[in-house]
Order: sequence, then structure tokens, then C-alpha cells
Amino acid sequence: MTTDMQQYATTQINKIRTRINNACQAVNRRPENVMLIGASKRQSSELICHFSNNGLSHVGENYLQEAVEKKNELIEQPLTWHFIGQIQSNKTKIIAQNFSWVHGVDRLKIAQRLGQQKDATQADINILIQLNPDNEASKAGVALNDASALCDRIAQTDGVVLRGFMMIPKARELVTDQRKVFSQARELLEQTNQQYSLSMDSLSMGMSTDLEAAISEGSTMIRVGTDLFGARQ
Ligand SMILES: *Cc1c(COP(=O)(O)O)cnc(C)c1O
Repeated sequence: MTTDMQQYATTQINKIRTRINNACQAVNRRPENVMLIGASKRQSSELICHFSNNGLSHVGENYLQEAVEKKNELIEQPLTWHFIGQIQSNKTKIIAQNFSWVHGVDRLKIAQRLGQQKDATQADINILIQLNPDNEASKAGVALNDASALCDRIAQTDGVVLRGFMMIPKARELVTDQRKVFSQARELLEQTNQQYSLSMDSLSMGMSTDLEAAISEGSTMIRVGTDLFGARQ
């Protein structure tokens, strides 16, 4: 059983690394500049452990209680934890104390609370502002037009480091359409850096079905669940 899982983890990581390498090669980017985050919601600690043993070093979790349990079980593994779920403002302390990166920030208040509530000894928390390019009510995130002003304010917040943008666009069938929406995030990042003299360096975009398009448009972090770990329980 364990050897099977070990074998499975090796195969799956190799598959995704190959996709990353090919996508990078097509646009002359370096694969080292694309961080692979295993989106591990609803996957067991045991499975995550095998992936970790095969070189996966970043994991992203959506559900806080599940995430903290798994983090405690995997305490020996050299993993960096990313919170990629919806953020409730009464949960910011637990998030701050358990995660190095928080991807879904869309209000100043959330950033302020994360910065205040982390442990004093903890490094500043890496923050990504979530964009909502399709203005979907079901998703968190700010409209593209409101993002730059929010960046300016969060960049001045203690205890956090503003690193860039995250987005979960609606599924688009055509790669050209996928690329178009991802390119909006890249352009907005460049423009906002200029406008407010910021140095944001990260774009968290691309999942199982659209990671190639995201890498083509400058993604620096892809969050892959299904095509890495397999179907969720
Ligand atoms: C679940 C999830 C993913 C991974 O999705 P897959 O399609 O399974 O690769 C990525 N990002 C977020 C925010 C998620 O919730």
C-alpha cells in the first residue's frame, strides 16, 4: 500500500512538472519561477505526506479546521502552508497563526487583522489580493477597478507583505479566452506597481484545467488539486 502510494505520488508529480516545463518552454520562462502548490483540500494527510516525500513543498488548504488538523499531523514535513479558501473575519487569528501565505484577501480589514493577530515571533504574512474578474457574487475578490487602491492601503499595513494577486476565473473553454483573463491580472500588477511604487512579484493563478494558459501569462504560483492528487474524497 505504502509503496503504491509512493509510486503514485512520484508519477503524479512528474506529470505536473512536465506540464509546467512544457508551458514554460513555450514562452521562454524558467520553471523555477513557477511555484507548484498542491491544492490538498479533502485529501488525506497520508497522501500529502507521500507527495511531500517526493518533493512537493507547498500545499494550499481551503477549510480551516481540516487544514489545522492536517498541519498538526504533518508537522515533521518541510511544508509551506497557504490558505486559499474564503476568509471569515472572525477566523483571521487562526489563519494568521497557521499560514505563511494567504491568497484570498479582498478587504483592508482582513489584512490588518492578519498583521495584528500573527504571533510576534512569526514572519510577516504574505498576502495576495483576490481579483474577481467576472464579478461573480459566489466568489470573493475585488473588481479589477478597485484593486489598485486596495493594494496601496494594504502595502502600508504592518505585519503583512503584499505580494500580488490571486484569481479564480470562471471556466473558459478556449485557451485564448483563458489567457485573456489571466493577462488582465498581469497587466494590473505591473500598472499598480508603477502607480504606487510597489514591488509586488506574485500571481497566483492557474489550476488543473488552465495552468498552461496561466503560465503563459506570467503566473508565478499554480494551485493544482485534481490533476496532482486525484479526485477529492
Ligand atoms: C480546489 C482549488 C484549487 C484546485 O482545483 P483543481 O481544479 O482541483 O486543480 C485551486 N484553487 C482553489 C482556490 C481551490 O479551491
